[in-house]
Amino acid sequence: MDPRPTILVVEDEPEIRRFLRSSLEAEGYRVAESATARRGVIDAGTHKPDVVIVDLGLPDFDGVEVVRQIRRWSTLPILILSARTQERAKIDAFEAGADDYVTKPFGIRELLARIKVALRHAARPQAGGAVLRFDRAVVDLERRTATRDEEALHLTPIEFRLLAALARHLGLVVTHRQLLVEVWGPSHAGDTHYLRIYVKQLRDKLEPDPLHPRHLVTEIGVGYRLVCSD
Ligand code: CA
Repeated sequence: MDPRPTILVVEDEPEIRRFLRSSLEAEGYRVAESATARRGVIDAGTHKPDVVIVDLGLPDFDGVEVVRQIRRWSTLPILILSARTQERAKIDAFEAGADDYVTKPFGIRELLARIKVALRHAARPQAGGAVLRFDRAVVDLERRTATRDEEALHLTPIEFRLLAALARHLGLVVTHRQLLVEVWGPSHAGDTHYLRIYVKQLRDKLEPDPLHPRHLVTEIGVGYRLVCSD
């Protein structure tokens, strides 16, 4: 058995596939390639990859549909690698079940970092009981306690729920809709202003510099990403 993690690259441009193969193999990954969407869905089943990287503009059908089809039977991490930069394209991909999104042209360092986050997330899918460490604040989601500079910090039940929803996808993007549904319920899926209010409150309590957040990161027009060690 090959112990290296396998990455499936679903991408129609041969130059990008070649570049990804050499970069990923240099980092110790095994690489499988699919040049079409249909092939990608099949290869995701047969190669049992640890991560799938999916381009959105594919010759036979759209990459979002590849994500949707893989999600019918698998929770494996899916990363989008696309030239589409519109918020709508990102939201569609996340709502189909993608875990992260890197826009082309991309830096290989950034892509490798996202792959590592995705692999870590897959290894521990339930980070819900985690202790989250911000710079000066610590939040224990299981005990529902928080401290800042060793002093007790009060978080409301909604704030805890919002942090828990983000922590379940630690390091990954969670869309506005996903957060609203998880924290407030399906009837509030469109109430984005709730999020703005509560994220601001959390930043004021937890971020060292709330105006330049490093942990509760905004993905403009799409959602939020929680970045912290646990
Ligand atoms: Ca393409």
